[in-house]
Parts: sequence; structure tokens; C-alpha cells
Amino acid sequence: MVRAVRGMRDILPHDARLWRYVEDTIQQVIARFAYEEVRLPLLEFTELFARGVGEATDIVEKEMYTLADRDGDSLSLRPEGTASCVRALEENGLLYNQTQRVFYAGPMFRYEKPQKGRYRQFYQIGAEAFGFAGPDVDIELIAIGAACWKALGISQYISLEVNSLGSSESRRAYKDALVAYLTPIQAQLDEDSQRRLLTNPMRILDSKNPNTQELLTSAPQLPDFIDEESKAHFQQLLKALDDLGIKYNVNSSLVRGLDYYTHTVFEWVTKDLGSQGAVCAGGRYDGLVKQLGGRDTPAVGFAIGLDRVVLLCELANSEVKSAADLYICVLGDELQSKGLLLAEQLREQLPQTSVRLHMGGGNFKKQLKRADASGATWAILYGDEEAKSGELSVKHLRDASIGQTKLRVDQIAQHISPNS
Ligand code: ATP
Ligand code: MG
Repeated sequence: MVRAVRGMRDILPHDARLWRYVEDTIQQVIARFAYEEVRLPLLEFTELFARGVGEATDIVEKEMYTLADRDGDSLSLRPEGTASCVRALEENGLLYNQTQRVFYAGPMFRYEKPQKGRYRQFYQIGAEAFGFAGPDVDIELIAIGAACWKALGISQYISLEVNSLGSSESRRAYKDALVAYLTPIQAQLDEDSQRRLLTNPMRILDSKNPNTQELLTSAPQLPDFIDEESKAHFQQLLKALDDLGIKYNVNSSLVRGLDYYTHTVFEWVTKDLGSQGAVCAGGRYDGLVKQLGGRDTPAVGFAIGLDRVVLLCELANSEVKSAADLYICVLGDELQSKGLLLAEQLREQLPQTSVRLHMGGGNFKKQLKRADASGATWAILYGDEEAKSGELSVKHLRDASIGQTKLRVDQIAQHISPNS
């Protein structure tokens, strides 16, 4: 047998049910904020990510799946959604003289070291807002995250970190000060940080190396460089979070590596997934649309890592709907086709109920075992006796006190789902 590629997982029926629950729940929350869906290609010109994610990032330097198209173009499987989203809206004239609030969902691809919570094909749902200078929309995006965790019942595992990078000018001034501080002592930095000093110095703040972190304690601090206007933007954000009852921690070493990030950055993090702590990352990227060749357009967004959200839902023992709600057992070959008809009638009367018809024969005892294994709540028995009397046996599989009742077809819906 040929095996799956490393880091690319199959999501099999049992897990897929949980995935469906997670995706549906998050998309319903996002829809309640009236964000609209965009569906974007998995393949883009490599140049889009080189410019949109940044040459000096891990993603572009070493994580992309890049291939040559048959005509020689360099294409890459998308490692993230924001660049494609900006490209699509700009290319289709949707950023011109208007605002947009959109979301996207689907697989992303990065060549990383696979481990729990980190895969080479992973899944994100992201939301982006264009044309709003904020901070109101920054807050809305954070509120969407909070509403998602609440709807999924995983708020207890997740906390919010926020920071402000200030305007592009204040950020640049900080970067220069950081480089000036670190350059004379660069030999003491870890290898990655030495490289970043030249390519992407603010990312050094992210370093996990204890020695580098020690050196950073006396480095210039970002908050000291932030201009008054940016401070006001950030204070408004924090106040609104207080008003909404959303708890946060201001983390001044939370940065995004790229020059087009400004003002608000945030991350929803968890301590319950080992070193894969980031569940959702977002921020304001006012410089990106222009960087990609469009007009200056303020923009802010986030991306949720679904693989990690699913792991948290497993921790929370999220209740997931079973494959079938109702299982029809039929006895005797000539009744099988009547079983199909009965299943159709029930699906029509109970639109919210999934109905599975037994196939492959066997006596009722064997069929009921299957019904039980399917996770169904109800079983309906349809044999010669039922065919003759016109009444079906309806059995609750999970609550013995409800037991078994004889009912006509038109009484079943009321019995099973009194409110439907
Ligand atoms: P990390 O620090 O964990 O590598 P990142 O900064 O590279 O994350 P982003 O590019 O901001 O991540 O993507 C947003 C979210 O997507 C992350 O917070 C995480 O939940 C998820 N994510 C990123 N890479 C992976 C991956 N390889 N496997 C699973 N989820 C991922
Ligand atoms: Mg990463």
C-alpha cells in the first residue's frame, strides 16, 4: 500500500464528525457577525507569498510547497490565507471605495516538522476586514474569537494576548533601536536570532532561547517608542475589551515579523497543547494591500488554527452528534423495499433527524446490535408482525425507562421529536 505523505493526515469518520461540529460552530458565529465567505484557490503564484508573507519569514524561506507549472511558472500551495484574500479582493475591484468583511476556510500547507498540533497540511478559518481604520473593527474581530471559544465550550483553555506595534514610523524607530542594541552583542545571540538581526530583527523578541531572552531584558522596549495616536488606538481597544468583559494580557514581546503590521496584534493561546500554544493569531496590517500593489487600505484580520481547536474540543469532551439518530431494522427480503419507503417518509417528517436503514439482513437481535453501535437514539423494528398490524415498534436505545412502543408511521415524528 502507498501511504499518506508525512504531515498530511486523514480525518476519518469519527474525527470528521468533531471537525464538522467545530467548523459549523465557528462559521455560524462568524455569520452572526455578518462576515461573508470568499473561496480562494489553493495554488497561487509564488511571488504573491514572497511579497505578501515576506521573503524573510520562516514560511517563505523554508516552509513552502513550491512547484513549477508545466509552462514554467513558479506556483506555491498556499501557506496562509491573507495574501490570497487581499489579491482576490483587489483583483476583483472589491476594495475600491468600499469596505469588506469576509472570511475563508480551508487547508494550508507548510513544510514543518510534524508533531501534535503541527502538520504539513493544516486547516484555518480566517476573517479579514478591509477599509476600516479601527480600533472598533479590531475589537469586533477579537469578539468573534471570544464568541467562537464560548460556542465551542473551550473558553477555559484559551487566553488572549494583545499588543500594539504602533504606526509604521514608531515601529521603524523601535526596530532601529533594537538593532543598535543587539549588533554589538550579536555573537551572544542564538543562531536563528543572529540571522534575524539582518533579515527580520523584531522576530528576535519571539526567540525561545533563554540566553537570548536574558539579553533582551535590558533591550529597548517597544512601548517606549509608540506615538501618542497609536497609544490612543490601543487604549480604546483595551477599554472596549474591558467593557465587553473579554480578559486579556498585554504582552509587549508579541510581534508579527513583517513591516506592514501596525497597531493591534493579538494571539489566542493555550497552555494545554504543549509547545503548540497559538490557537488563533491576528492583527492589523495596514501596509499590506499597498505592498501588494493596491491602494492604501487599512486592514485587520485573524486566522484560527482548526487542528488545535479540535484538540481542545477533544479535551473538553465536546458532545458530537452520532452518524444516525434513528436506525430502521427490517426483517425479511420482501420488506426491504418497504424499508426504503419508510426511511423516506421519516426523513420527510423529521428533517433534522438522520435516518439509517439497516442493510444486509440478519435477525432483529443482530440488527439492534448494529443500531446500538451506530450511536442512534432510536430504533424502529419493521417485521411481518408490524407489516400486518400497520404499527411499527419504536424503541429508545439509550433510555430503558422510555422502552418500546407501537406506533403508526404518522405518529412516529411526534413521539420522537415532540417539538418538530
Ligand atoms: P506557530 O508559532 O505555532 O508556528 P504561526 O505564527 O506560524 O504559528 P500563523 O501563521 O499566525 O501561525 O497561523 C495562525 C494559526 O494557524 C496559528 O495560531 C496556529 O493555530 C495555526 N497553525 C499555523 N501553522 C500550523 C501548522 N503547521 N499546523 C497546525 N496549525 C498551524
Ligand atoms: Mg509557524
